[in-house]
Amino acid sequence: MQSHSENLFPVHHEILDRTVKEKLLQQRARVVWLTGLSGAGKTTLAKYLEEELFNRGFLTQILDGDNIRSGVNNNLGFSDADRHENIRRIAEISKLFLNCGIITINCFISPTDDIRAIARRIIGEEDFIEIYVNAPLAVCEDRDVKGLYSKARRGEIKEFTGITSPFEAPRQVDLEIRTDLLTIGQSVAKILEFVLPEILYREMQA
Ligand code: ADP
Repeated sequence: MQSHSENLFPVHHEILDRTVKEKLLQQRARVVWLTGLSGAGKTTLAKYLEEELFNRGFLTQILDGDNIRSGVNNNLGFSDADRHENIRRIAEISKLFLNCGIITINCFISPTDDIRAIARRIIGEEDFIEIYVNAPLAVCEDRDVKGLYSKARRGEIKEFTGITSPFEAPRQVDLEIRTDLLTIGQSVAKILEFVLPEILYREMQA
């Protein structure tokens, strides 16, 4: 009988795991998940946070509507089912970054407890930092950064969070930032104070 051993390829090395990549990068990977209404300040804070972390030597990746909804999720809309699928894919992508030792800063409205629970479950409690970027609807609408609230009020956008689609304020978060009460600088400082101890590299105990 012919041997099949010639068709077997021994694995010479195992796939490198997260620990060695975190060691290379000298950081602990986490997902910093910013939830909140449109216009609450997620993108603004993510950009400042990324810059502050970069200046301290941390490798990060921002995930937001611009790089997710226009690319990998460009087949998804804003129905309930699509919002779930949107978050599921984002959480899975975040996990790939985590396993590569990279910190992601995620800016997604993530409007319901259900949706945030999906993200938390996929990413894992230990690695998930949930920050509620909070400003009252009236303030966000007044800012109307992208003109979306006026469009929603005119009925030109269906299922717009806060207007025609619900936003459930998260009850248990790691940190809440009231952007109507704090300056951008104060907001970033508060986030940094919370996040830095979480991502500082520590050698694993043998
Ligand atoms: P989101 O990403 O949540 O939709 P954006 O970051 O695009 O919100 O817009 C938030 C707006 O609010 C920006 O114009 C920003 O300058 C302003 N703003 C005022 N105070 C703050 C604060 N403390 N933190 C973040 N943004 C703030």
